[in-house]
Amino acid sequence: MDRYQSFAQSAIGRFVVGKLGLPNPHPLRRHSPDRPPLDGPVLLGGGGRLVEPVRAVLTSAGLDTAVPATDADRYAALVFDATGIDSTERLRELYDFFHPVIRKLGPCGRVVVLGTPPEQAASRIAQRALEGFTRSVGKELKRGGTAQLVHVAEGAEGGVESTLRFLLSGRSAYVSGQVVRIGAAEVERPEDWDRPLAGKVALVTGASRGIGAAIAEVLARDGAHVVCLDVPAQGAELSEVANRVGGSALQLDITSATAPGRIVDHLTQRHGGVDVVVHNAGITRDRTLGRMDAAGWDAVIEVNLAAQERVNAALVEAGALRSNGRVIGVSSIAGIAGNVGQTNYATTKAGVIGMVDQLSAELAGRATVNAVAPGFIETRMTAAVPLLIREAGRRMNSLSQGGLPVDVAETVAWFAHPASTGVTGNVVRVCGQSLLGA
Ligand code: NAD
Repeated sequence: MDRYQSFAQSAIGRFVVGKLGLPNPHPLRRHSPDRPPLDGPVLLGGGGRLVEPVRAVLTSAGLDTAVPATDADRYAALVFDATGIDSTERLRELYDFFHPVIRKLGPCGRVVVLGTPPEQAASRIAQRALEGFTRSVGKELKRGGTAQLVHVAEGAEGGVESTLRFLLSGRSAYVSGQVVRIGAAEVERPEDWDRPLAGKVALVTGASRGIGAAIAEVLARDGAHVVCLDVPAQGAELSEVANRVGGSALQLDITSATAPGRIVDHLTQRHGGVDVVVHNAGITRDRTLGRMDAAGWDAVIEVNLAAQERVNAALVEAGALRSNGRVIGVSSIAGIAGNVGQTNYATTKAGVIGMVDQLSAELAGRATVNAVAPGFIETRMTAAVPLLIREAGRRMNSLSQGGLPVDVAETVAWFAHPASTGVTGNVVRVCGQSLLGA
């Protein structure tokens, strides 16, 4: 909890915050192995092709679908199958379902609207309209609530479990206002949903600290052997992370000419290949364009984009990425909205989105390619931002707080999940529905 958040939770703080209409960040309920995914029942509504498959998922995930016993009891989640909405008139069904129950949603409640990708829908208009509804609900929800729209393609009904388990739990605590696409694909169900990555090998770049270290931890928690990569100067911290997660350390600079070959050799010789590749290493060299020297431009392009492209090409060419593989990029909301002083950085982070588009098409049927786009995450990178800008970054989102590295890591773990085969070509923001950008 940051300092402002502690103040806002105190008796006097609550009074001041309420009187002045200041942001009121609610403590987020994150995943814990000792707690159920949600603290109450899920209400499932709507009448499309997903109601029954979703009901089966809720049961399999151990989520309660009982109606609350008393009026004071709250729902933990509201899930609405809107795939049946095939005309503008029928959008009224959204109002009819949500209006009576939205105020009965408990703290850190979840809203999930399920739709059909507009290009496949009988009414493209009505399905596209769901986006404005869901994003507005995300902005209206108080007390840590989140809302997402999931476009489920025809034939992908059996592939929604990993996504619903992510969205209907504390794993998605800092994800809100997102539109996710699930395509039809053969789904590999894990034997154990608590260790879905058992037997898999993951490579995480920039793993010695911050978001990369959190990604290594969460993928290892999910059962993967994690190869933790970072520059030699970070060697001590890197070994510490690798030891902690029971993985291995690979010290190299991804921009060096020999890096792609060394990565391929390491993964093929020691592990027989790799299942999950997470391109997390990234740097900033902030300056407005007129004051930026060429070295600052080049360094950011090299680390954040060019090196990743070379590593991907080498892994694919060597056949080192195993079937049902995962390539996961780390973009940024700066790559979507742009940012002052970050022309170089935003160029690379938008380029990561291009990588998702290009590679997801190239590797279709063999591997999925997605990216997370973090907003304001509490790390060393954001601790260095001047106080006022930092406070603005923290508060200017629907949850009025910064996210934690684990929030980005949980989203990466959902992409990495073997049952997420239909989840490809997505860029999901982990930004508490930041007001920056679309
Ligand atoms: P960080 O600086 O704490 O960690 C980045 C890691 O990458 C470091 O360990 C660094 O040594 C490593 N690295 C840098 N250059 C490398 C190279 N050439 N070869 C190998 N490793 C290299 O940063 P972080 O905040 O944890 O950010 C991680 C990723 O998330 C970055 O891609 C960043 O752009 C992105 N991101 C962060 C935020 C945020 O709020 N912190 C927001 C949006 C996006």
